[in-house]
Amino acid sequence: MAASAKRFAETSGQAETALPRAAKNIATAANTNSLNFDADSLMMERQMAEDRKQRTDNRRQMTEQSTKSAQAFAEACSCLPGGVNSPVRAFGGVDIGPLFISAAKGSKIYDIDGNEYIDYVGSWGPMILGHAHPKVLEAITAAAQKGTSFGAPTLAETALAKKIIAAFDSVEKVRLVSSGTEAVMTAIRLARGYTKKDLIIKMVGCYHGHSDSLLVAAGSGLAEATTGRPLGSAIASSGGVPDSIAKLTVVVPYNDIEVVRAALDVYRGKIAAVLVEPVAANMGVVPPLDGYLQTLRNLCDQNDSLLIFDEVITGFRLALGGAQELFGIKADITCLGKIIGGGLPVGALGGRADIMDMLAPLGPVYQAGTLSGNPLATAAANATLDILFGADSYERLESSAALLEAGLANAAKDAGIAVTINRLGSIMSCFFTDKKVRNFTDVQSTDIKRFKKFFALMLERGIYLAPSAYEAMFVSLAHSKADIEKTIEAAKNSFRKIKDEK
Ligand code: PLP
Repeated sequence: MAASAKRFAETSGQAETALPRAAKNIATAANTNSLNFDADSLMMERQMAEDRKQRTDNRRQMTEQSTKSAQAFAEACSCLPGGVNSPVRAFGGVDIGPLFISAAKGSKIYDIDGNEYIDYVGSWGPMILGHAHPKVLEAITAAAQKGTSFGAPTLAETALAKKIIAAFDSVEKVRLVSSGTEAVMTAIRLARGYTKKDLIIKMVGCYHGHSDSLLVAAGSGLAEATTGRPLGSAIASSGGVPDSIAKLTVVVPYNDIEVVRAALDVYRGKIAAVLVEPVAANMGVVPPLDGYLQTLRNLCDQNDSLLIFDEVITGFRLALGGAQELFGIKADITCLGKIIGGGLPVGALGGRADIMDMLAPLGPVYQAGTLSGNPLATAAANATLDILFGADSYERLESSAALLEAGLANAAKDAGIAVTINRLGSIMSCFFTDKKVRNFTDVQSTDIKRFKKFFALMLERGIYLAPSAYEAMFVSLAHSKADIEKTIEAAKNSFRKIKDEK
């Protein structure tokens, strides 16, 4: 076996020649784990007792501040699985109950107990202008008055497609859908249809929505749910995903180009596409190493595989043309979501015309949607993008985020707390570690317990961070200097408290 192929087999748990070997490796990992169980059990029990104590402490803080949210959550749990309609909203990653939100405006979000928070979740990315921007509300209201859905083409859809094409050099045609999940799911079908190959390469810890093929070694909420399972193996991160589908996804570590090279060698002629978040943002923010994206581009060209950039987070976030503009790389297919909907459900995929024209009704690859290009959603989208195309949006985002990054770093240093802050433009993560964070394994080795404590302390001080160590902080155009300063002040207190309690 070539050295690089061997490294791939070791790192990913995949065989050098055949997918079924992956299952063997997983079985071996499971056996090894059970042999170690007795030796580890005492430590685990201690750990669990500590975790229970932290959960109780956090819950105590929460109930004083959020009694109505606690009641609402209990009621919601009686009729919604886990009390929520998307798992990470349950705050499972921070061991406290979720806030129930009553309203949001600008940089602030309000819960049903009447608490005000500075919001760095931004609905998980879309709210780059801040909440309830008057121009977006005006556009939605005007659209609603003309009817909420026609199931027929509208001028607004063409206008939105043209804006996406203007922003992304690599995009000649666009298909609008209703979510990021749909965008990536369709991109994969399209890549398979175009290349007539079946396998997809995906990076560990990248999240691409909840379609079956991509719930394999996934980040975001899945990272919480699957921590501790053997990584890199072609097993699903979710129940209900058949092995036969999971095995069509070849999993490699993010930021390790040699393993991608080896995977392409091992599965020569079979890889339809390499799929990547060009800046990973669902294991916290992890930027690509120098040359990583360019080499992915080259490898895809050499292997007749398509390069799919999932820019659902980074599109219109890092620059108008997303990570592709920032790093000067052209993807074959680009997936978008979040910001392009301005807070309403919109996703999109775009790419070269010869690829996009494979989609129905022109080509054999089927995709459709009753509410695709919905008039309210496209109105919000067009209004949002018009503002972003306006002057200095990205300079302003950069300076607010840089101020926040520096403030958090100084606050941690002053308190003697080790943190590594990864930031690119207006997305960032504060990892509790003194080491570099370059992939999912690095993220898992950070102090997640400290993050949980930090989250609870910040919340108590009116700062709403993403309730998981595996999610990003989003800075918006609505965050003022005063918001950032208040956040830094809260961080100073929180870091000190964490240090004192140690
Ligand atoms: N791709 C990325 C990079 C994402 O972060 C997400 C959602 O967080 C998705 C795809 C799925 O998008 P949606 O939740 O709109 O289905």
